[in-house]
Amino acid sequence: MAKTAIITGGSRGIGEALSMKLGEMGYNVVINYRSASSKALSDAIAEKLVKEYGVEALVVKADVSKYEDCEALVKAAVDRFGDKIDVLVNNAGITNNCNWIDITREAYENVINTNLMSFLHMTHLVLPYMINHSDKDHQCCIINTASVGGLTGVINQADYCASKSGVIGLSRALALEFASRGVRVNVIAPGMIMTDMLRGVNQDELNALAATIPEGYIGDVADIAGAMEYLLTAPYVTGQVISPNGGFVLQ
Ligand code: NAP
Repeated sequence: MAKTAIITGGSRGIGEALSMKLGEMGYNVVINYRSASSKALSDAIAEKLVKEYGVEALVVKADVSKYEDCEALVKAAVDRFGDKIDVLVNNAGITNNCNWIDITREAYENVINTNLMSFLHMTHLVLPYMINHSDKDHQCCIINTASVGGLTGVINQADYCASKSGVIGLSRALALEFASRGVRVNVIAPGMIMTDMLRGVNQDELNALAATIPEGYIGDVADIAGAMEYLLTAPYVTGQVISPNGGFVLQ
């Protein structure tokens, strides 16, 4: 029977790699994006998924920081692929880089709404479509993208770190609540990964960042896709945080 996965923020960066990996694993993929400029990127991923893996793909524009948009996203998925959602990947995220004196309320609320509230909205809306179909022989999975910032703290990113720690707490609680109903919930907490989030940084700064990582280099989106593949195929793993970070959090 066909399997369906929804990914938020699937248009670029880590999300693009996760969208492609979901297709490679045989899921029909619902790719969410927010900015008008990302429609073409999302359409191109959808086309590639169909061509390379023979799965179906649906592109849905939604600002997942808003509950109503999340409702519309889930409805679009159910209308197209039916009322069984096998996988939800909450990946959409943004950062701020500002000290806690100068930051505006609007800026930090935006980070919390995008990085944490969207995860609450999406899990709340999708879980009913999982528990009706899941049991120990057919597990459904939620993968939530956090960050090493949610494990360690980062200067000038208090809002980001708060959102990512919140994601870890949410995931552990949901893992406990839904373990007996065949839904596993796990977290990927990436270290530094080369995406648009880091593309504004100049080469000297990138070299300096790489020097802070024990493995000596900035990670690739494929490292996160590999972690997701493991979590989706590990039946006895729930409520865990897996952190591909080159040893960054060991120091
Ligand atoms: P990115 O390249 O900036 O992509 C962000 C994605 O999130 C885009 O698809 C964007 O959609 C989407 N998005 C942002 N706000 C949204 C909203 N309100 N509604 C729907 N979609 C929204 O970021 P990335 O580096 O791939 O990061 C992906 C995730 O990994 C984030 O949760 C981030 O916090 C986490 N992470 C990244 C790193 C890193 O070093 N890159 C490290 C740790 C954790 P549009 O294309 O439409 O804007």
